[in-house]
Amino acid sequence: LGHPRVAIVTGSSSGIGEAVVKQFCQEGLQVLAVDANPQGVDIAEAAGAVFYQADLTDPEACRGSVMEAIKRFGHVDILVNNAGIQHVETLEDFPEAKWRQIIDLMLTAPFLLTQAVWPYMRQGQWGRIVNMASIHASVASPGKVGYVSAKHGLVGLTRTAALEGGAAGITVNALCPAYVRTPLVERQIADQARLNGMDEQQVIEEVMLKNAAIKRLIEPDEVAALVSYLASEQAGAVTGACWNMDLGWTAQ
Ligand code: NAD
Repeated sequence: LGHPRVAIVTGSSSGIGEAVVKQFCQEGLQVLAVDANPQGVDIAEAAGAVFYQADLTDPEACRGSVMEAIKRFGHVDILVNNAGIQHVETLEDFPEAKWRQIIDLMLTAPFLLTQAVWPYMRQGQWGRIVNMASIHASVASPGKVGYVSAKHGLVGLTRTAALEGGAAGITVNALCPAYVRTPLVERQIADQARLNGMDEQQVIEEVMLKNAAIKRLIEPDEVAALVSYLASEQAGAVTGACWNMDLGWTAQ
C-alpha cells in the first residue's frame, strides 16, 4: 500500500470493538475508534487509537466519522462496522422506536459508512470492509425481531457491496459469531431470564448454548483475530462471505 493501513472501527468502547481496536493497534495500523460512549476515549488512547465520539444512528455522524479519519490520517483502507445493540421483547410488544433505532444503527449506519469510505478505497484500489453480523444473520431466535432483521439485512448489504467492490480491490465480508463474552451478552442473559422465566445459569446452558457443539462463550479476542485476517492483504480472495464462528451451532 505504501502507507500504514488506516482503519475505522465502530462500537469501539466495549466488547468486540474494543478487542478489534487493540488487535489493529498491535499490528501497527492507524485506527479511528468510533463510539457514542465518551468513556471509550481512555480505551482507545490506551491502545494507541484516536477516539471519535459519534452516535451512528445520526447519518451526519456516520459521514462525520469518515471525514474525521480523512482529516487525521489522509485516507481509509479498512472499515469495521461493529456498533450494535440488542433489545429482547416479543414481536407483539416490540416498540417501534426500538425497531427504528436498531435498523438505523445496525443496517443504515453500515450502509452510510460504506458509501462514505467507498471513493477513498476505490481511489486506492484497495479496501477491506468487515461487517459484524451474527449467527442471527442466518437463524432467528424468539424475542429478537429487530436484531435478527437488521443482521439479515446486513448480509444483503455485504453481498451487494462485495459484488460492486470486486473490480476496485475492495472486499466486503460478514462475520457471524454466536455468543461472545461481552457486556451486550451479559445484559441479555438477564433479559432472557425474564422472558423465559428462568434463572441466569439456565439461560446460558439451555438457551444460549443449546445448539452449540462447544459449550462455552466465545472470547472477544477470538473474534478480533478473524477480523484481523479478513482485513489483511492475504484475505484478498475472500469476499461476499458470511464467516461463521458459532461453536458448531449451525452445523446441525
Ligand atoms: P457491546 O455492547 O459490548 O459494545 C457495543 C458498542 O457499541 C458499545 O461500546 C456502545 O457504546 C456502542 N454503541 C451503541 N449504540 C451506539 C450508537 N448509537 N452509536 C455509536 N456506538 C454505539 O457489544 P458487543 O457484544 O461487543 O457487540 C458488538 C457487535 O457484535 C454488535 O454488532 C453485535 O450485534 C455483534 N455480535 C455480538 C455478539 C455477542 O454475543 N456479544 C454475537 C454476535 C454478534
